[in-house]
Amino acid sequence: MRRDMRREMETFKVWARSVLTLLFRRECLICHRELRGFEKNLCTHCMADLPLSFTWCSERSEADLGFYGRAYVEKVTSLLIYRGKFKELLYQLKYKGHISIGIMLGRMLGSKLFLQESSQQSTEKAEQRQYLVVPVPLHWLKQMKRGYNQSAVLAKGVVKNLRERGIEARLCQGVLRRRRFTETQTVRDRLSRWQNVQRAFTINPNRLHRLLETNISAVNRAHQAEPLHFILVDDVLTTGATLDACANLLLKNCRCTVTIATAAFVP
Ligand SMILES: [Zn+2]
Repeated sequence: MRRDMRREMETFKVWARSVLTLLFRRECLICHRELRGFEKNLCTHCMADLPLSFTWCSERSEADLGFYGRAYVEKVTSLLIYRGKFKELLYQLKYKGHISIGIMLGRMLGSKLFLQESSQQSTEKAEQRQYLVVPVPLHWLKQMKRGYNQSAVLAKGVVKNLRERGIEARLCQGVLRRRRFTETQTVRDRLSRWQNVQRAFTINPNRLHRLLETNISAVNRAHQAEPLHFILVDDVLTTGATLDACANLLLKNCRCTVTIATAAFVP
């Protein structure tokens, strides 16, 4: 009798384990291998294979060179090279509501900012500033449909990492606005597409005014004039038209510095 009970107990345990595995199976977003306890979103193999761009290693990386002759930005840092199977990560974030991958990539991206020794982009200088982390906005209708802005998710990750490193940073939404959809005009030529993107963003004067006011009171306490320091965050850097438009708007409307940070970059 006792042996029967023990056997039943064992069968139940096996059954319960299979149900739990089925319900809570976590798999790698890239290779779909089952994740081990300590792994999150990606397995150790895929994590080691991430195509890092190393744009943070040089003051004149390929990503920086793309901005020459355009808006003056202090540094352009992209975490990954946008290629192959790793495009899936951005796809999952943008279209599949995979928020945790966005936070993870954002944190990783944050960890690559301000690593340039002896430049404006050194950790030491960054520690003396207060950063406003601005995600590139979506059109409100698009954001309502999607339920979130993928750049804002990345920006949250960036803020988390910077704070952990002792760099003052906060998420700053609403200072830029997107006026209309820009992706549907694929038939237009390159120049008019570019001009279209430039016109697609506007500044929210009330929000900017509030930022400046907060900054002025901070400046008075420190007895020194300090510009605003923005970190513009986007998911993928392609032609740079969007980021150029956003950076220009900020630079034209207030005394500020702009740093660009994107999760991926198309070389
Ligand atoms: Zn994997």
